[in-house]
Amino acid sequence: MEEEYQSKLIRTCTKCKETKPLKEFRYKLTRAQAKQQGYAGNVLVTAEGKVCVSCRPARKKLRDMTNKELMHKAASGDVPALVAKSRIEKRKAETNLLRKAGRVARWHELWAMEWEAQLREMRTHMRKISQRKSLSTKLGRKALPAFLTAYGKELRRELARLTLHYKTQRCRPTYSRWEEYISLEARERIKDAWQLMPMDERVRVREIPVMLTYRPDPEANKYQRPKNTAALEARKKLLIANDPSMAPPKPKRTYETRTLPPYPPELPPVPDDIEKWLGL
Ligand SMILES: [Zn+2]
Repeated sequence: MEEEYQSKLIRTCTKCKETKPLKEFRYKLTRAQAKQQGYAGNVLVTAEGKVCVSCRPARKKLRDMTNKELMHKAASGDVPALVAKSRIEKRKAETNLLRKAGRVARWHELWAMEWEAQLREMRTHMRKISQRKSLSTKLGRKALPAFLTAYGKELRRELARLTLHYKTQRCRPTYSRWEEYISLEARERIKDAWQLMPMDERVRVREIPVMLTYRPDPEANKYQRPKNTAALEARKKLLIANDPSMAPPKPKRTYETRTLPPYPPELPPVPDDIEKWLGL
């Protein structure tokens, strides 16, 4: 009984200053705390604190504990070792899955960018064809606009097919040129449309659209990863910016040893005529 307001049955909380029954000040020690206070730690120990139950900070929940905290709890016996182990393993597996999913998504992004670069060229070609069609219509030609319309229609269909393909299959491009992807059927239909044009009209066409003259060569036009180092560096940067775990490991620091001058440092000898030196 140190002070008058502390009886066997009530106590005043040092935090909220409220006087409450003593049982609200009791709490169970963790095994680690019990051992710290000199108990064997195999029996739960009840202690009486200075703050009441509502002022006492809540104990950290298992799911909020870091792996390191869980390991410490397992070592002290407050958490069964098996529980801690399974929680740590589960968390590690989940983190790895998340990381992997992120990486895969990043690859899909990159492949989509590579596909888009090729399809952009295809769209440019289609735009040029469309411009030629309007020009030849204005010039009063009949057969050429009809052919260019058919040509554009085939390419539009192929573009839609390719876009659907890369967005659903999520793969890297197969070829390095968009012309290589155009199906045989589409090529046949383009050639048929060309044959429908009268001979004198065909002869007048100066620039023959590429799909009429293109010779497919899947082997020669296989897609290759960009060799341009600048492009590669840009891709690496993008990957690392999105996922720091993709960064290459930092080189280990090397320590060089150097010999320190002897301590205490050797002082120069005192000259005999020190008084003269000092001007005395
Ligand atoms: Zn209190």
